[in-house]
Amino acid sequence: MFRQVRTLGVMGGTFDPIHYGHLVTAEAVRAEYGLDQVLFVPTGQPAHKPAGGYTEAKHRYMMTILATLTNPHFEVSRVDIERPGTTYTIDTLHDLSTLYGPDTQLYFITGADAILEILAWKNPEELLRLCTFVAATRPGYDLSRLEQQLGDLYRRHKDRIKVVEVPAMAISSTDIRQRVRLGRPIRYLVPETVAYYIYKNGLYGATQMIVDGNLQLQGDPPC
Ligand code: ATP
Ligand code: MG
Repeated sequence: MFRQVRTLGVMGGTFDPIHYGHLVTAEAVRAEYGLDQVLFVPTGQPAHKPAGGYTEAKHRYMMTILATLTNPHFEVSRVDIERPGTTYTIDTLHDLSTLYGPDTQLYFITGADAILEILAWKNPEELLRLCTFVAATRPGYDLSRLEQQLGDLYRRHKDRIKVVEVPAMAISSTDIRQRVRLGRPIRYLVPETVAYYIYKNGLYGATQMIVDGNLQLQGDPPC
């Protein structure tokens, strides 16, 4: 199965929860570079969040499965969830290049801000050897900012650092978690199945509302 994938997009994230910003970005990058597949890789222990400051991996994984189900080019990987300890992008890329082999080109998809954190890693050359980076930016984003912040690294590896404009950049998991906590609607920010999963499992302080035996989401008209 792995051998047939020549160009593989890799979208790593906490996905707490996954939202349309992630999905639109993955599809935009897939279309732009004609990628065979995009692999969503939910993190095990995120590097920048305190232990317990994020939702259990089994829920984040399930939401990612539900959100990607209808796109035949999207798949979900458990490599980061199953590796013990903190998730580092370098380990994800090593594991995937071993799994898929040398004939598969990897494209790591990330937000423009996250790319700066990742490439601030002690050996960015190693990361750039393993994959091409595709940074999603807001339309009209000042590209010279990224070039400036990456400096010499950008000039040396221009062919391995790409930028794609994505209109849905303002959606964030932080905002969705807050909306659920405050009882505000999340409809059209996440796929409906993900919204139901959140309410059914009481994630982010969601309280279930059952009307006539049916689970209601915030913002749903009562039956
Ligand atoms: P949080 O608010 O909890 O940090 P998030 O919305 O940033 O969550 P992550 O799971 O942290 O989501 O992000 C995974 C990847 O998706 C990162 O590379 C991030 O830059 C990118 N990303 C996040 N939100 C968007 C968006 N709206 N559009 C495009 N890419 C996004
Ligand atoms: Mg984030």
